[in-house]
Amino acid sequence: MPTVDIIVPVYNEQDVIPLFQDRITEVMATCDVQWRVLFVDDGSADDSLSTIKGIQESDSRFGYLSLSRNFGKEYAVTAGLDHASADAVVVIDVDLQDPPELIPDMIAQWHSGYDVVYATRKARHGESAAKKLTANWFYNIINVMSQIDIPKDTGDYRLMSRKAYQAVNQLRENNRFMKGLFAWVGYKQKQLYFEREPRAAGETKWNYPKLWRFALDGITSFSYLPLRFATWIGMTVACFAFIYGAVIIVKTLMMGADVPGYPSLMVVMLFLGGIQLMALGIIGEYLGRMFSESKNRPLYLVDEYQPPE
Ligand code: UDP
Ligand code: MG
Repeated sequence: MPTVDIIVPVYNEQDVIPLFQDRITEVMATCDVQWRVLFVDDGSADDSLSTIKGIQESDSRFGYLSLSRNFGKEYAVTAGLDHASADAVVVIDVDLQDPPELIPDMIAQWHSGYDVVYATRKARHGESAAKKLTANWFYNIINVMSQIDIPKDTGDYRLMSRKAYQAVNQLRENNRFMKGLFAWVGYKQKQLYFEREPRAAGETKWNYPKLWRFALDGITSFSYLPLRFATWIGMTVACFAFIYGAVIIVKTLMMGADVPGYPSLMVVMLFLGGIQLMALGIIGEYLGRMFSESKNRPLYLVDEYQPPE
């Protein structure tokens, strides 16, 4: 029988873990595969880990991996994938926003030859209009800027064959924009649709500052376009500046200097200063990420590991 590892990142989710256990057990009973669940505890501060340990003791198909602190979801998923060994893995959130009922369809698509089966939200229930709008902008921008196609409204919820997840495991970069990495590896991909439900319990770990950083990580990991943009705009402005400089020189030689000119001087200075600062900022975003890559630290540290059986 084919084996499937289910990777579940967990951060402060004590209330929802038992609900997840029930739903996943029920759904997987209908699938003709040998399945295991690996909870990755991402440094939870509540009783998540002890809840998971309780589940593991009563059902050894559930195992756990706990990280030494909170590293963030991208790293928790990475840790889970590193410890997977099955024929296929499924990455799923514990909060039941990714309905486990989709897994049988994913497995069916996998059996019919696809290496990656990803789940795209049809509707985003319980999200504000502003969140929907900014998410939409983000996908448009990143798809225009980068060479790879990142499917819209698609999270980490997906099934990957061994071939595909081992390819992802080879990408050891520090800035882990998983949606991008998943798309980068390619292979035969299949899209399924689902309705994203509100959380079963607990609260989202996202806020706008975090989303902004996430968006910048995504764009800088997969596109050099902002750097080129800085070059273009710099060159254009420099061209105008040279032409205008020449005009001033000629004019001064022919007609002498007239003192007025403070407003135009000020405007040009402020404009150039702004452009320079912006270009420096763009370079800084990339430089900071190069710095973090060059340190070559491990992506996460494991505290305890109890593999599922
Ligand atoms: N998560 C994690 N580490 C974090 C934040 C979140 O492992 O630092 C997990 C969380 O427990 C959940 C999943 O990632 O299983 C998705 O988190 P959340 O529901 O907050 O994100 P959203 O669904 O709102 O995008
Ligand atoms: Mg969620």
